[in-house]
Amino acid sequence: MHAEIIAVGDELTSGQSLDTNSQWIAQRLDELGIETLYHSTVGDRMAPCVEVFRRAIARADLIVITGGLGPTDDDLTRDALAKAAGVELIRDEVQLEHIRNFFARRDWSMTPRNERQALVPVGGRAVRNPHGTAPGIDLEVARLGRTPSRLFALPGVPAEMRRMWEESVAPAILALLGERRRVILRRRINCFGAGESRIESMLPDLISRDRRPTVGITAGRGTITLRIAAEGANEDECRAAIEPVEELIRRKLGTLVFGVEDQRLQDAVARLLRQGGKTIFTAECATAGLIAQWLAGVENSADFYQGGMVLNVLNEPVEQAAINCRRQLRADYGLAIGLPIPAGTDAKNLPLPASGKGSGGDRILQVPVALASTDGVVAESIAYDDHPALEREFLAKRALNFVRLALLS
Ligand code: ATP
Repeated sequence: MHAEIIAVGDELTSGQSLDTNSQWIAQRLDELGIETLYHSTVGDRMAPCVEVFRRAIARADLIVITGGLGPTDDDLTRDALAKAAGVELIRDEVQLEHIRNFFARRDWSMTPRNERQALVPVGGRAVRNPHGTAPGIDLEVARLGRTPSRLFALPGVPAEMRRMWEESVAPAILALLGERRRVILRRRINCFGAGESRIESMLPDLISRDRRPTVGITAGRGTITLRIAAEGANEDECRAAIEPVEELIRRKLGTLVFGVEDQRLQDAVARLLRQGGKTIFTAECATAGLIAQWLAGVENSADFYQGGMVLNVLNEPVEQAAINCRRQLRADYGLAIGLPIPAGTDAKNLPLPASGKGSGGDRILQVPVALASTDGVVAESIAYDDHPALEREFLAKRALNFVRLALLS
């Protein structure tokens, strides 16, 4: 069974509001084991709404629509739905009574427009809205030579929509699925240290659309995430399909993999430090305290993170700074991050101010980084693009990854 989600509203198509309803519904459908193939967004206009609904009926077994059920002139979902399904609208007396009571309890006067909200396409059912006046619609639309398409229309207001989903729509979908209910299980594997295309080339054939379980790859702010998704009759079946694929990915990518699900690089560093019962202290120039913020933000960070300094100048080589930070603060590791210099220049020349490179251009810069421990000092020069939107975060990630790899070796 495949689904389509449709969001109706000019405020969405014009970019004034973000369509969070569709994201939420897609997540709920996923939990029910239903794959969503399409998301559509359409403005408050009759012909486009009818067209989008018709197209959805033709291509999706399950359709969830939000928005456009209100009493105003621009609320067209009800009428457009009837047109798309080729049926008339009739009044649902129970819903009309519910709307009347809603107004009476609040001492509000009711307009004929509100009465329109009790209209339902012939053959459909109203879905109770415990919070507002606009009931939803539950409609089955026949399709020639195929199973009918089941369609739910819900109000746009997120709280109303969610409550109605939990109370009415989810149980109806479960009943519809019956024995056919499938489970989708997902696993995210987080990698750092190579680009998307290189990671893909290290995993031949795995990221292919036709493969089961599917493996997708996404890149976000330097981190690459592999997403495994398995569909099966139950969770055990899905897990059994995911495990060998995860193992293969880990074997092929080795230390590029730093975590799973929501784990970040700082969590990986924290885990390694805790495993060895070790502590770290940081001194940062170019990353301006970002690493300190990340490490301190890990839960119970006091057991591995002693603290950090943010410096605008570094009057000693970065290796010495790392040694000093470790010794003076009696930490097991000292991490020092120097100032950016143009790539290819000597670290003793031309340090650039920590607050930014001042160029705004796309020079390649490098930052010296050093990690001191009882075993001595390891150092590296991290090269990066002088790109204002990303540089500090990317640099901090590179430096944390440098620490992670040093702790692993
Ligand atoms: P109402 O009876 O409240 O008018 P409705 O079904 O007509 O319900 P809309 O008028 O389309 O709903 O939207 C009401 C409000 O709900 C919008 O102003 C917007 O803030 C929010 N909303 C609508 N659609 C979405 C969406 N897809 N994602 C998030 N919020 C939405």
